[in-house]
Amino acid sequence: MAYSPLLEQLLQALRCLPGVGARTAQRMAFHLLERDREGARVLAAALAEGVDKIGECETCRMLSEDASCWICSSANRDRSLLCVVESPADVIAIEESGIYRGRYFVLQGRLSPLDGIGPDELGLALFERNLDQGETAETILSTSSTEEGKATAAYLAGLARERQVKVSRIAHGVPIGGELEYVDRSTLSRAITGRNSLELE
Ligand code: ZN
Repeated sequence: MAYSPLLEQLLQALRCLPGVGARTAQRMAFHLLERDREGARVLAAALAEGVDKIGECETCRMLSEDASCWICSSANRDRSLLCVVESPADVIAIEESGIYRGRYFVLQGRLSPLDGIGPDELGLALFERNLDQGETAETILSTSSTEEGKATAAYLAGLARERQVKVSRIAHGVPIGGELEYVDRSTLSRAITGRNSLELE
């Protein structure tokens, strides 16, 4: 074996990170052990505390250590607008664009029956409860433009229409299949301001 048992364990653990293969894991581990043990301790503690304490908002499913996230509990949000996104990273991207002042709902995925992801996995009962509160006048469906993202949007549109909530879809300019987090700020701003009212298809 090329590595000691604990080193091997560390390398294997690092490989749970996206995009980290054997070589990158070794570079990270050696960097931490040779040059930055204090940084490694801070990282380990932040990971342990974050994993234990960060859950999801009970209203919108955004990552949050509080029952209500900082967006849902803000008094300065437009409660008539509900933007539905696939991931917490999408929320951050839209927040950074500065263009949107409404609330969110985070699906944490998109409908994908073959992978066993249905309405339950996306928390759609909670989404329906949000709509049933009666404050939402418009829901902006910002799922990706992949086939699954579009199917998800169509399903959500049905739920909103049942409640007479206006439905719009984030405008084009977002790359096909691209995640919102990779779209530059001005493109994202245009996509939200230029959103289209979604007609029955
Ligand atoms: Zn929230």
